[in-house]
Amino acid sequence: MSHVLSTRSLELAQTLVRMNTVSNHSNLELVDFVRDHLAGLGVRSRLTYNADKTKANLFATLGAGKKAGVILSGHTDTVPWDGQAWSVDPLSAIVQDWPQTDADAERVIDEPRLYGRGSADMKSFIAVALANAERFIESESPFAVHFAFSYDEEVGCFGVRELIADMKDQGIKPLACIVGEPTMMVPAIAHKGVYRFKCCVRGKEAHSSLTPQSVNAIEMAARVIGKLRDMADGFERDEPRYEGFDVPFSTASVGQFHGGIADNVVPRDAEFRYEFRNLPTSDVAKMQKEVVAYAQRAEVAMKKVAPDAGFRFEPICEVPSFLGSAHDAVTRLAQRLAGEPRTTLVGFGTEAGIFKNAGIPTVVCGPGSITQAHQPDEYVTLEQLARCEDFLRGLAATKEIR
Ligand SMILES: [Zn+2]
Repeated sequence: MSHVLSTRSLELAQTLVRMNTVSNHSNLELVDFVRDHLAGLGVRSRLTYNADKTKANLFATLGAGKKAGVILSGHTDTVPWDGQAWSVDPLSAIVQDWPQTDADAERVIDEPRLYGRGSADMKSFIAVALANAERFIESESPFAVHFAFSYDEEVGCFGVRELIADMKDQGIKPLACIVGEPTMMVPAIAHKGVYRFKCCVRGKEAHSSLTPQSVNAIEMAARVIGKLRDMADGFERDEPRYEGFDVPFSTASVGQFHGGIADNVVPRDAEFRYEFRNLPTSDVAKMQKEVVAYAQRAEVAMKKVAPDAGFRFEPICEVPSFLGSAHDAVTRLAQRLAGEPRTTLVGFGTEAGIFKNAGIPTVVCGPGSITQAHQPDEYVTLEQLARCEDFLRGLAATKEIR
């Protein structure tokens, strides 16, 4: 099968990559561009904003009057590139088919690639969908296609929750959702959850010669961290394996720790951040309860010395795990459209679990490879974009979702 990428898809992908939508920036340039593009085709977009109106989700239905159909979901934000060694401008959206770096020079790159932050993760998917908007509008399919483009995915899937709530308010009940994260166009039916928490520990400070009158915040934090490590060892030892993941059990990890002001002061404050990456078959709420219960037991002795000493936990990111099925109609549809008999699992978090938890059968399938995402010299091959274009054109022509 030969795959041909339309000029329009490539140009739109370049246009979107050139917009700086790192998660700590506004994404309105991109969202307004998509809104205006769709408005030119007579399609109205619904925007749902964050609290300070600097970012928005966009939801649009293509094929007015048709039955609700498949959502094409993508996030508009990207990770930053600070400190990364890029050989091209991350916003250049340059297309090249010759070696970029010395490391690359050892092998011949025989396929053209689109370079830039967000090229693989995941503006190209949005661009190819947008380039084929007229096809979705004019198709003879009885089903509409819905665009759901979110903000703040990379920092914890925050935007999409409002988008889904708004969709429900509007009484729109899509049949299925395809999340176009980079899977090399192989339908992915599961990923782990990602849950991050901050733990602030309050102790009681004292001169370090007077430890009995103090509560050492670092030492108490370390006890809870030790508990987390024991839990992680327990997952590795005891958890039923979920084969297919690189790490086939849940993990726990502490990512940051801050505490202490001087060698001779018992520290009053400490703070650390940790995460669970839970299997779709494991209960992350139970994991977190176990940590909190452990901390509460430790608090009893702390409060005897200082009544306001203790632990405070704060969730900072909650990306639910995703578990679809090879038997779901949307998975089989994605397999047919991609010409791909396999399914896969992915090691990264996506919005798929949030759509699935909202009652919408979901699959993850998009162009490019996650090994290029978040990396310097991120790229997607034009061959992958062409496959994506075939996939979406096939969707426009789909008369039945089964
Ligand atoms: Zn992504």
